[in-house]
Amino acid sequence: MTTATPLHQTLKTFFGFEKFRPNQEKIISAILDKKDVLAIMPTGGGKSICFQLPALLFPGITIVISPLIALMKDQVDSLKANGIAACCINSSQSDQVQQAHIEAILRNDIKLVYVAPESLSYLENTFNQIIVSLIAIDEAHCISSWGHDFRPAYTNLGYLKNRFPSTPILALTATADKATRTDICQQLNLHNPTVFISSFDRKNLSLEVRPALDRVKQIIDFIEKKPHESGIIYCLSRKTTEELAEKLQNSGINAKAYHAGLDNLVRAQTQDDFINDDCQVICATIAFGMGIDKSNVRWVIHYNLPKNIEGYYQEIGRAGRDGLPSETILFESYGDVIQLQKFASQGLNAEVQLSKLERMKQYADAVSCRRKILLSYFGEIVTENCGNCDVCKNPPEFFDGTILAQKALSAIARLKESEPLPVIVDFLRGSKNAHIFEKEYQNLKTYGVGNTVSWHDWNQYIIQLINHGYCEIAFHQKNHIKLTSLAHEVLFNGEKVQLTTVHKTTSEKEILRETKIKPKKDTLFEVLRKLRYELSKEESVPAYVIFSDAVLREMEMNRPMSDDELLAIDGVGKAKLEKYGTTFIKAIIEFHKNKAIKPKNEKSTYKETLALFESGLSPEAIAEKRSLGVSTIMSHFAKLYQDGHVIDLYQFVSKEDVAQIAAAKISLESPSALKPYFDYFEEQMPYDKIRLALAIIEKRNQTNL
Ligand code: ADP
Ligand code: ZN
Repeated sequence: MTTATPLHQTLKTFFGFEKFRPNQEKIISAILDKKDVLAIMPTGGGKSICFQLPALLFPGITIVISPLIALMKDQVDSLKANGIAACCINSSQSDQVQQAHIEAILRNDIKLVYVAPESLSYLENTFNQIIVSLIAIDEAHCISSWGHDFRPAYTNLGYLKNRFPSTPILALTATADKATRTDICQQLNLHNPTVFISSFDRKNLSLEVRPALDRVKQIIDFIEKKPHESGIIYCLSRKTTEELAEKLQNSGINAKAYHAGLDNLVRAQTQDDFINDDCQVICATIAFGMGIDKSNVRWVIHYNLPKNIEGYYQEIGRAGRDGLPSETILFESYGDVIQLQKFASQGLNAEVQLSKLERMKQYADAVSCRRKILLSYFGEIVTENCGNCDVCKNPPEFFDGTILAQKALSAIARLKESEPLPVIVDFLRGSKNAHIFEKEYQNLKTYGVGNTVSWHDWNQYIIQLINHGYCEIAFHQKNHIKLTSLAHEVLFNGEKVQLTTVHKTTSEKEILRETKIKPKKDTLFEVLRKLRYELSKEESVPAYVIFSDAVLREMEMNRPMSDDELLAIDGVGKAKLEKYGTTFIKAIIEFHKNKAIKPKNEKSTYKETLALFESGLSPEAIAEKRSLGVSTIMSHFAKLYQDGHVIDLYQFVSKEDVAQIAAAKISLESPSALKPYFDYFEEQMPYDKIRLALAIIEKRNQTNL
C-alpha cells in the first residue's frame, strides 16, 4: 500500500499527478502555513499547482492575478476539466457574465478567481463579503521596472498586503535576476517572504546549434519527420515570419505567421488555432508565447540568433512543458550577429545590450556542454556534462589549423582588409565571379590557395578565427574583416592555431543515415491523439487540456484497460477518469483487439505469448510474430511471472537493476505507475526493466508474507 500524504492524495485526485515536481511541495506547505512566498521556477517548471492545490484546501477563495486574458481562460479551462470550480474576471466580459461570476463567488461556489490587475477594481465590493484565503501573483516580475516585462498595472498591487494583512501572498516568476527578485518582494510588501528558487535545468529539452545555411530546407526536412507535432519558429523580423510561413505552406506544412503588426483578430485566431492543434507551426516574432500554456509544444526553432540568453531560454522553455523529450534548434548566422550588434549599439543601454549579445554568441559558438553554459548564466554551477546537447553528443575534434589560418589571414591582408567574409571565401577558393574580376583579385597572390576546402567549411573556419580574436568584423565599415594584432603572430611569428573540425549539419547527416523513415501512422498514440482532438472539438477546449501528450504516451506504454489501471497513469485524476475513462479504455481495448490477431480474451493473449516463448522464441521474435510491441510482450512476461509461470526474468533485467528499482520503490513510496520510476532514474532505466523488476519485487513480497 502507498503511504501517500494528504498533499499527495490531493495532487493525485484533482490533478492526476503521482508526485510533486521539485519545490512544489515545499512551496505549498509554506503557503498552507500562511507564509508569504516568492517562487522562482523556469517556464514549464510547474508553477500553477503551487497555488491551485492550496486553493482547494483553504476554506475561502484564492485570487490569482495574471497579466493575460488568454492565459487565464486556458487555466480556467484546465481547472474545470479537473473538476475544480474556477472563473476569471476581465474587461472583455459582458456585464451579465461578470455579474454571474461575482454571484458565484459570493455563494462561495468558486475556489479560484483569475483576474487581471486592471480589473481588480471590479471585485472591490465583493472583497468585503468573502474570505480571501490566498493571493497568487503570476508573472510577478511585471511589477519591477528592473525586469524585462514591466507592466504599469502591476505597480498598484502593493496595496493588497495592506488590504488583506493576514492572507498569504505567493509571487511567482521565471525571472531569476537578483535585482528583480528583491524588487518584487519590496513592492508587493511581502512579509518576511520565504524564497524558493528551483533549478533552471529543463533536462527534457535537447539543445542544438546549427550554422544557418539552407535554413528553410533544414526546417522543412525537420518538420516533415514530425507531421503532427506542434512547434514554434522564432524570427527576428515581422517580414521573415511571413515569408517563412509562406515557404512552409508551399511545402504543404500547416504554418502561420504571428507578429505584433497583424490585425488583433487575426492574431487571436492564429494563437487559438495553434493552442487547439489546428495549426501545427507558428512562425513568430518574440511577441508570441507569453501566456501560452500549451503543454504539447514539441520543438522550438530559432531562425535567427536571439538578442540575449534570457529571451532565448524563455522561448525554448515553451517546448515540452509536459516533461516529454522536446527539441530545440538555434540557427546561427553571421548576418544576424551583425544586424543585432547594430540594433544593440543604437538602442538604450547599448553597453549592457552588447555584452548580453556577446554572451549569446559565446553560447552559440560553444565547444563545451551548452547546458552548463546556460545554467551558469543563471547562476547554477553544474559539473557534469548534460549528454543532451549537440556538443555533448558530438564533441568537437581539434586539429592543427595553422596553415588554414595563415591562408585566410594573408587573404584578408591581400584584400587590404576591405572586404566582407563572403568575398574572402570566394577569393580563397578562386571563384570566377564578377566582383573578383572587377577588382582584378585573380591577379593577387593567395588567390585560389584554398580551392580544396568547401565554401561552407571556409566560412566556418574564418568564423572560428574571428571567435579566437585573430580577426574581427568592422561593423561600421560595411562589415569588412580586419586583422588584429594576434594575426601578426600567426603570419610572421609561427604561432600555432587550433581549429575544430566542421561537422556536417545534423540534417545532412540524418539524410545520409536515414533512408526516409516515415512517421508511424497506426500507433496507439496516434489513435489516442485523434480521439483527444475530437473530444476537444466537442468541448471547445484545447486538446492538451483533456490529456497531455505525456499521459497519452503512458497510456500507449501501459495500455490501461480498467478504471484502476487508467487511474494509475500519471496525469489521470478523478474528474478525468469519470469524464473520459470509458471512452479511452474502449479505444485502447479496440486497438488491442485489432493488433493482437484477435485473442479470444485477455488470458489467451498471455498464453499465446507464453507458448511462443516456451517454443524458444525471443521477445523480439514473439513481438514480430504477434504484431505487438516488444514492451507489450515484456508486460505479458511480467503478468505471467506474477501469475506463477516459470519465466526467468533475470534474462532481461539484472540483479543490480532490480536492487536499484527496489530502493527506488521505497523512496518513491510505491507509486502505482511506472513513470515516477522512469523519472527517478532520470530516464536512464528503460520502462521494460522497471516493469519486470517490479514484477520480481512484488512476487518476492508476496512469497515472503
Ligand atoms: P509554469 O507556469 O511554471 O510554466 P505550469 O504550471 O504551466 O508551468 O506547468 C507546466 C506543465 O507541467 C503543465 O502541463 C502541468 O500540468 C505539468 N505539471 C505540473 N506539475 C506537475 C507534476 N507534479 N507532475 C507532472 N506534471 C506536472
Ligand atoms: Zn551538454
